Formats: sequence, structure tokens, C-alpha cells
Amino acid sequence: MDVIVIGGGIAGVATAYQLRAAGHRVCVVERHATVAQGATYGHSGTVLPTPLDVWFGPTFMASRQNAKNGIVNKAGFNGPARQLVKQLAELQEPNAFGHQYGLLRPLIELSRDTLADMEARFGLEFEQASGVLYLVRTEQEWQQLRPALGLLRLFEVPHHELTPEQCAAFEHSVRTEPAFAGGVLFDQERTANCPLFTKLIKQTLDTQGDVQFMLGCEVASIRLEGQRAAVELAPRPGAASRSREVDVIHADAVVVAAGHGSLALLERLGLRLPLHPLRLHTLVAPIAHEECAPHVAIVDAVKRIAISRMNHRLRIAGGAVLQSAGQIDKPLGEAVTKEALALLGQATHDWIPGAARISAALPWEGAKLLSPDGLPVIGNALHPRLFVNIGHGPAGWGLACGSGKLVADLISGSAPELPADTLAALRADRFR
Ligand SMILES: Cc1cc2nc3c(=O)[nH]c(=O)nc-3n(C[C@H](O)[C@H](O)[C@H](O)COP(=O)(O)OP(=O)(O)OC[C@H]3O[C@@H](n4cnc5c(N)ncnc54)[C@H](O)[C@@H]3O)c2cc1C
Repeated sequence: MDVIVIGGGIAGVATAYQLRAAGHRVCVVERHATVAQGATYGHSGTVLPTPLDVWFGPTFMASRQNAKNGIVNKAGFNGPARQLVKQLAELQEPNAFGHQYGLLRPLIELSRDTLADMEARFGLEFEQASGVLYLVRTEQEWQQLRPALGLLRLFEVPHHELTPEQCAAFEHSVRTEPAFAGGVLFDQERTANCPLFTKLIKQTLDTQGDVQFMLGCEVASIRLEGQRAAVELAPRPGAASRSREVDVIHADAVVVAAGHGSLALLERLGLRLPLHPLRLHTLVAPIAHEECAPHVAIVDAVKRIAISRMNHRLRIAGGAVLQSAGQIDKPLGEAVTKEALALLGQATHDWIPGAARISAALPWEGAKLLSPDGLPVIGNALHPRLFVNIGHGPAGWGLACGSGKLVADLISGSAPELPADTLAALRADRFR
């Protein structure tokens, strides 16, 4: 089949890879001049989500104070943003949290296998580094984390619960003063460079053939016509006007993997999904004192701020800002940006004092799509020829490899390697 994939982030590129592997011809349309320029660029490195990473559950937005939960909440009286917070709050209840994570778990396993296969096949090097240490501030937060620790045991995820002294003994940059509650070490989980991986996969596809990348092209709308589908391209700025026919590409199927740009495309087709864009920030800071820099990735477990080392720099990611969806394409006010970046600076200072020169850090911000039930939206939607692969929230890096495989299986008519309840929980029509 001829398949158009809209979006050149990790979700789109991983989908294109799987579609080609299944024997389809693929055209990836990306509005930027190269791939991995959206949320994929801002990744904090953690490859696959443990129950401590998912953006739902007992610790997620458990405090109303921005400084405590790591999210600058500017939802105001905006209906959809408040509704999102309300729905996610329902998943703070431990049984609801466990059930939802249980539905996600098979996709995590599929993603792990798929990624391992891609790595082994091409011998890819994308700055993989072993070990992630999650740190917990207070005894109250440690208690809130208990359901997640229970899930780690239930799913037999290799991990170690550490006292503060054990944390400091394992990772020299962490100090035991001021006191904190403890940590959870995943010595078999990894961090890695998501944009680099995305570009390496694109390179592989470029050499293999059968996948065309149309870069610098924006999809204006999708057309669904009986047994065919098509996308209409927006005129390129400054380009001489061309005939309308040239700007339409026809295919047997269209996959929408356009990150937060997906919502507008789907809405034009009449599909309104309750996904919400959430801004996130990164700081890339030079290492201040080598002896204070961590050798594994450090994550503030409750504020969900991740600090990972990249050569002579530290990448600090988090500082989420929740606001109305209509604000997402407008610049964030200076005061709110400052508040979000201050969360990143403070977490770095709290956990690994002296490691980073925050005053010389380069800021970046991007938006990721969060769903009200914490799960991505993957599968067929609205029309037999339309597929979506979006809403991975904070976990698109590794999950995209499994979700790309799922989309390719669905388009090929092959039986997906996921249980029926997970497939149903990922479908777009679950929100009806
Ligand atoms: C700061 C930050 C840290 C993160 N940390 C992690 C982490 O540690 N681990 C993890 O798993 N996940 C993390 N995430 C989330 C992860 O980055 C995302 O889930 C993932 O990158 C989403 O990939 P995507 O391809 O769906 O979206 P994107 O990367 O946003 O790609 C969508 C692409 O579609 C293109 N596009 C949009 N509309 C159109 C259109 N109309 N026509 C053509 N092209 C279009 C965009 O230009 C963009 O390139 C983080 C996100 C951020 C922002």
C-alpha cells in the first residue's frame, strides 16, 4: 500500500520504519526542514516508562502547590484544561492507577522488543547510558509512591529501593544533607538521545528506499474519499502559486503522527479528541564542577524533573506548564517561563549541588500531548483509511517504537501483538 505519515517526530519516523518493514511504500510529510524538531527534540532521555514515569497516579499533581508538584498550573477557569486535571485526579486512586498502568504495560513490552530489534539490526549508537535513579524528598511522598513500587514488584521490573545513604554511596553527586526520604534505582533501564535515534532511523530509511521524506511541507488538511485518502499541502511561504493538483498527495492510508499539530488536522475532519497540549522546558547547562556531576540520570520522582548527562553538559527537563490549549502557539509570558525554569534550576541545586552552571544554561520549550486517561491514542479512527499515533505524553521516546509497530500491523491487516483490552484502551473511540 501507499501510506502517508504526517509528522517527522519519533512517532512518525518509527511508524514509517515499521510500515516499510511490512512492505508498504511510505511518504513522511514534515513541516520542518528536518526530522525530530518538535517534542522529540526536547526529550529528557528516559527510554521506557516505569510506573514512576507515567503522568497519572497517586503522586501526579497530588499537591496544589506548583513548587511541590513540579507543574505550573495556569489552567484558570478554562473548561478543557480543568476537565483534564479532574480526570487525571481520578487516577490518583491506587486501584485505578494500577489498572491503567496494567493496560499500558503490554505496549511498553512491545516497544522494548521492537527497539531492541531495531538496535540489533543496524548496530545503532544513540548515546545509550545505563541506570536511572529516582529520588524522593519526603516520607509523605514516599508513601504516595507505594502503589507504584507495588506495580514494579507485580510486573517484576528490576529495581532497588535505596535509603538516602545507599543513594549517596551509589551516586557520589547526591548528598545525604539536607535529609530526603530515599530513592529507587533502575540499573537496567536506560537513557538515550531520542532526536539522534530518530535521525539515524531516517538515514537508514533513506538508504533502504521506499520511504520518501517531504521536508519543509505542511499538511493543511486530510481528505477521506471512499477507498482512498489524500493530504492537501499548504502553499510554501514565498513559493509561486502552483496548480492545486500538485499540492494534493493521494494514498491508500494516512497516519496522523503530528504531535500537538494533530489536533487541528483531526478537528477539521470532525474528530475532536480530549487531548491537551502541555508545555515542557529543558535547560542544557555546562557542568560546573566535574566532581559534583552525576554518572547516572537523576529524576526528581514527584516533580518529574530529569537530569541526564550529555558529555560536558547536563540536560535538565521538566518544568511543565498547564494552560488553555488555545495558548499553546503563543509565547509564554516572561513570569511563567521564569517560574518553570526556576523549578529546573532548584531541582538541580537540591539533588546535585555544584554540578551545573545554571546561569549559563540554554533554555528550550516544547509541547507534548497529554490524554485525560494517561494513555496514547493509537489505531484506526473515523474512516477505514485513517490512523492515528499520538498523545504519548511524557513517554513517546521508547513507546513510539511499539506504537509504530501496532499501526503497521493494523494497516497490513496483521494481528497486533497486544491484548484486546490494551487495544481497546488505546483506540480513539474510547472517548466517545
Ligand atoms: C521537554 C520534554 C522532555 C521529554 N522527555 C521525555 C523522556 O524522557 N522520555 C520520553 O519517553 N518522552 C519524553 N518526552 C515526550 C516525547 O518527547 C514525546 O512523547 C514524543 O517526542 C512525541 O513524538 P511525536 O512524534 O508524537 O511528536 P513531535 O516530536 O512533536 O513530532 C510531531 C511532528 O509533526 C510535525 N507536524 C505537526 N503538524 C504538521 C503538519 N500539519 N504538517 C506537517 N508536519 C506537521 C511537527 O513539525 C513535528 O515535527 C518529553 C517531551 C518534552 C517536550
